[in-house]
Parts: sequence; C-alpha cells; structure tokens
Amino acid sequence: AFSICSPKVCIVGSGPAGFYTAQHLIKARQDVEVDIYERLPVPFGLVRFGVAPDHPEVKNVINTFTLTARNSRCSFYGNVNVGKDVSIEELQQAYHAVVLSYGAEGNRRMGVPGEDLAGVYSAKDFVGWYNGLPSCQELSPDLNCETAVILGQGNVALDVARILLAPTDILKKTDITQPALEALVQSQVRRVLIVGRRGPMQVACTIKEFREMVNLPDTRPEMMADDFEGVKEALKDLPRPRKRLTELMMKTALEIPSEKEQERQSKASRVWAFRFLRSPIEILANPDNSRTVGIRLAVNRLEGSGDGARAVPTGEVEDVTCGLLISSIGYKSLPIDPSVPFDSHKAIVPNNMGRVQHTAGLYCSGWLKTGPTGVIATTMNNSFDTARSVVEDMESGTVDVSAARPGSQSISGLLEERGVKPVTFSNWEKIDSLEMSRGEASGKPREKLLTVEEMLQVARK
Ligand code: FAD
Repeated sequence: AFSICSPKVCIVGSGPAGFYTAQHLIKARQDVEVDIYERLPVPFGLVRFGVAPDHPEVKNVINTFTLTARNSRCSFYGNVNVGKDVSIEELQQAYHAVVLSYGAEGNRRMGVPGEDLAGVYSAKDFVGWYNGLPSCQELSPDLNCETAVILGQGNVALDVARILLAPTDILKKTDITQPALEALVQSQVRRVLIVGRRGPMQVACTIKEFREMVNLPDTRPEMMADDFEGVKEALKDLPRPRKRLTELMMKTALEIPSEKEQERQSKASRVWAFRFLRSPIEILANPDNSRTVGIRLAVNRLEGSGDGARAVPTGEVEDVTCGLLISSIGYKSLPIDPSVPFDSHKAIVPNNMGRVQHTAGLYCSGWLKTGPTGVIATTMNNSFDTARSVVEDMESGTVDVSAARPGSQSISGLLEERGVKPVTFSNWEKIDSLEMSRGEASGKPREKLLTVEEMLQVARK
C-alpha cells in the first residue's frame, strides 16, 4: 500500500538503549518519526545517574545522543512516567510501534536478616546518591566508621569502592554532587573490603576497573596470597580477558612491589582488599538493634571450575566488623504495566530479537531486554538489533504502517487532561547550561540539580 503518512515509533526511556534505538531507526528509514518518553525531567539514564563521576570520558556518548535528540524527526518528552501518566496500551494505539527501554531500576536483595538496618545500603541507592538521582538524595549515608564492606565484585562494586577511597582532591573536580563531596571529605572510612561468593577466577569486574584500584592514589591493596593457590596452573585455559585480569590480581597479591611502589604504599592512608569465597548469612546489629556493626559470612568452597563454578558453604562462618555495608549484587528490571508480558524469574521482558513475545508492534531494548549486564557498547549493539527488527517488521507488513497514527498529538492531549507537563529537549538544554555554569564556578564540569521540582522550575523559565 502506498503511504503518505510517516511511521511513528514511541520509545520508553531515554538511557543509552532508548537513544541508540532512536538513532538507528532514524538512520534506517528516512520517513520514520521517533518520540522518546522519559520519567525524569532530564535525559540519559545511567549515563547521568550510574556512570562514576571520575569516568567523564564514558559520558561523551551524551554528545551523540544530543545529535539524535536534535534531529527534526526525534522528539523528547521528559517528566512522563509511562505506566502511571500514560499506559502502554494508549501508546500502542497512538503509535505504529512501541519500544520499551526503561532499564533496570529495581535492585536485587540479599535476602538475609538485617538488610534494612541503618548503615546498610544497596549500591544502586549509594550510586544514585553521589550521582544526584533525586529519589536517593535523602540517603545521606553515615560514613563515620573505619571499615566498609561491599558485597559483590563487579564494576559497580569497584566504582563504589573507588568513590569511598579516592582522594577528595580528585573528586572535587568531577560532577559528583556537592552534598556527597562534603560527606566524603568528612568520611572516616579507611578500609574497604570487596567480598565475593566465589573465587578470583569468577570475579565480575573488568581489568580497567581493577587497574584503577591498583593505581588509586593514597591507597594500598591487601590481597591474600592464599586465595591464589592453584590459580597459576589454571591460567593457560582461561579466555584472554579473564587471563589478563587474573594475572594482574595475582601480581597484586603475590609479587613484592618495586622499592618506589613500596614507598608509595607505606605512605598510603587507606586500604582496599578483595575477599573471596564468602556469602552473607546475616547482618549484625548493635545492642539496641538500631544500626549495623558487621556481617556474618559463610565460608564457601568451589564446586566445578570456570564461569560455571558454584559456591558451596563449608559450614564455617566468619564475622567481619564494619559500620557501612553496601550490597552490589545486581540491578533488576521491574514490570511497569500489567498488559506487558514479564518474566519475573529472569526479570526481563521475554523477547525474540527485541520483539516482545505475543505482542505485534511491541519491542524492547537495553537492560530490560538482556538483563542488567554489559557496558554501554553492549547496550548499543542490542538496541541496534531491536531497531533492525522494527524496520524489518515495517517492511514485511507485520507492523502495518499504511494507516496514519496520531503519535504525540493524541498523547499530548491525554497528558494535558491528566495535568502532566512534559519537558522538551530544549527545556532540558536550559537545565544543562545552568548546571554547567554552576559547575564552572566551583571548578567542576557540572553541578547537578538535585530535585525534580528545581529541574522543572528551570526547564519552564
Ligand atoms: P538506563 O540507562 O537505566 O535507562 C533507562 C531510562 O528509562 C532511564 O532514564 C529511566 O529514568 C527511564 N525510565 C524508567 N522507568 C520509566 C518509565 N516508567 N517511564 C519512562 N521512562 C522510564 N557502562 C559503561 O560502558 N561504562 C561505565 O563506566 C559504566 N558504569 C556504570 C555504572 C553503574 C553504577 C551502572 C549501574 C552501570 C554502568 N554502566 C557502564 C552500564 C550502562 O550504564 C548500561 O549499559 C546502560 O545504561 C543501560 O542502558 P538502558 O538504556 O537499558 O538503561
């Protein structure tokens, strides 16, 4: 059928998945129009609220996303909470295709007693706190203790460890929030233990992040040589990235450092260490049960080897004293609308190449599609794949684009009736330039606004 109307696609979420899906769609079809709906008044998802403040180079992807947003066939509607302000069914009626890319905003719980004690935080909330996520600003974590324990050994765990230990002279030149910077200046934390349930060959971090720990000024590692027994023999069978990471961990744990490095380490005021083969059993409380004073860990042994090795408790336990406990065992996607299929076991939307099962015209990309693993480049690739599926379905007719759809016109009407006022991309650019000029005044790349109210106020000026 000959069509004079343009295919209209709606994307839910403006993180890397949303923007990379939009970018590919706009490029692949000259007639497609894309609208991105975002819950917060500000775009970019975890690039703004997850990526560590001392990783500014990672945030350069924002430049590409901004080009996409400024394309005449792309519109941004911030401050729209899909699932509450507008339903997925309403979006499906207004658009030819709907792509869900709202990420993984939930948090995997440890499932042990004491998880809700004061002094215990999820990495998700702790990261949100220092990165200015409005919903995490009340956290104000108490850093008035010597030892912090982080559960989990992935890159997020290392981000948190680095922020806790980094000299504040470094942090004050980043876009870390002012309240977090002030709390870290006052912090008493001198020792960070990064605890994993399996062994050194199963850690989830990558070599770049581990090397950053090794090179972190004013800190020294305290790895345990015994943990690396038998590891040398297994090295040759490891895939190359894991082999290089394991070699660096072994070097850190076993080799006697150069004289210069010994001198540097002897002057260091802060310590970090990996602890392996330990799982949480219980978070220990002080006598009046008001806050944490430590954690009871099960001592494990490994069954099997490689990535599939399982941690099995030996029956032995170990108590570790700490005043701050951060669990970094993973993010988790949540369902936002009962009409959308959701696999609550895997915590993803069940899909085939981004096509949501049993629902023509509905797609997913990013962490919601794959689960919360992988870097921005991984998210980019899987989002391009989803966009390809959308284009294929338009070409094959599975998604019928011959009849016009109203797109944002009808949704804008619904939102207005409901008292929801979207923030456009040029509104966001006002927030952006205010944040950058505030940052400039204090020698930072940006001073983020910390409340939704203030963001909306600036956006509407
Ligand atoms: P997100 O980035 O989470 O985007 C989802 C968006 O959807 C958000 O803007 C959210 O507000 C919005 N949303 C949620 N619910 C709704 C709703 N109901 N309606 C409308 N909008 C909604 N990768 C790297 O390459 N380098 C790094 O240094 C790095 N550091 C990281 C640090 C942390 C702490 C974390 C958690 C991840 C890090 N990553 C890093 C990984 C990277 O952030 C992810 O690969 C990527 O952000 C996933 O993109 P996404 O779009 O699926 O999800």
